[in-house]
Amino acid sequence: MKDLIIIGSGPAGLTAAIYAKRAELDCVVIEKEAISGGQIINTTEIDNYPGLYHMGGFDLGMKFREHADALGAEFVEGNVVGFSRTDEKVTVTLENGDVYEAKTAIIAGGARHRELGVEGEARLRGAGVSYCATCDGAFFRKKITVVNGGGDVAVEDALFLSRLCEKVYLVHRRDEFRAAKTLVSAAKAAPNIEFVLDSVITEIKGDQNVSAITVKNVKTGEVKDLAVSGVFIAVGMLPESEVYKNAVDTDEKGYIIGDETGKTSAPNVFVAGDIRTKALRQVVTAAADGANAVTSVENYLHTLN
Ligand code: NAP
Repeated sequence: MKDLIIIGSGPAGLTAAIYAKRAELDCVVIEKEAISGGQIINTTEIDNYPGLYHMGGFDLGMKFREHADALGAEFVEGNVVGFSRTDEKVTVTLENGDVYEAKTAIIAGGARHRELGVEGEARLRGAGVSYCATCDGAFFRKKITVVNGGGDVAVEDALFLSRLCEKVYLVHRRDEFRAAKTLVSAAKAAPNIEFVLDSVITEIKGDQNVSAITVKNVKTGEVKDLAVSGVFIAVGMLPESEVYKNAVDTDEKGYIIGDETGKTSAPNVFVAGDIRTKALRQVVTAAADGANAVTSVENYLHTLN
């Protein structure tokens, strides 16, 4: 039986892998995607990870992975469909039927994109509806697109698309942004970004491909259509915690309850990164979580000896 199973290979999981190898723990990292890095691989630039100003998100993800590889971390690709624990062990089942057992686990599975749930969104997904501007933006060169959301991701996406597209609408349901002020200022200065504030998308239209959106102003009630070829939805994330709810406590939004030490309601299960209850979800806090969670794992393993 292994000492530790790390679930997830974003900044939290990869940092945990680095710390676990340095602590000489026998561990395995289970990653859902073929490429490590988590959400940052879809982020154009990470401007706030100390020491790496103007670092590409994909490149930073690769650097984390190379670091873990250099220390000999073991990676397995697979989707976790079962998770259970006793005080003696944690059991993780993958979609392909493989089962892993360890004395402890760190859950660093991150979060997935929230959907709007409006007419046309599901039908036109991949036909103009996207949740990743850096992945799909190039398909909309010289076209008109819209980004929905008011967080860092939405404003970064709008800026990224403004460099490719003829015009970008930025639809946000309020007139204040969660995004960093520097990003909002840059978006305001971009000549081809048009802010559509206090507004929500109520429908995405198109036969084979997206042709328009319907937006409603939530203050005035005004409804209008905007002709667009691409709709980029950036309205936040939801924790990927469903499979763990039988083993650890979660809050009302589904985040696994844990403090900065990564301890959860279960003594041998720890949590790190965006899936944890926390105030600030950033690469730097995810990496810190990974380090802290391994320290907690080590402390727990000492109690067994
Ligand atoms: P976020 O900060 O949670 O923002 C989500 C946005 O979507 C909010 O503006 C929210 O509106 C809006 N929204 C939520 N549900 C909606 C709905 N049903 N309809 C319309 N609008 C909706 O999410 P995020 O931008 O994905 O960022 C996630 C985390 O990653 C954040 O902590 C962010 O700071 C971090 N991040 C950091 C960087 C960086 O450091 N460079 C880059 C990217 C992301 P309200 O504002 O009205 O709630």
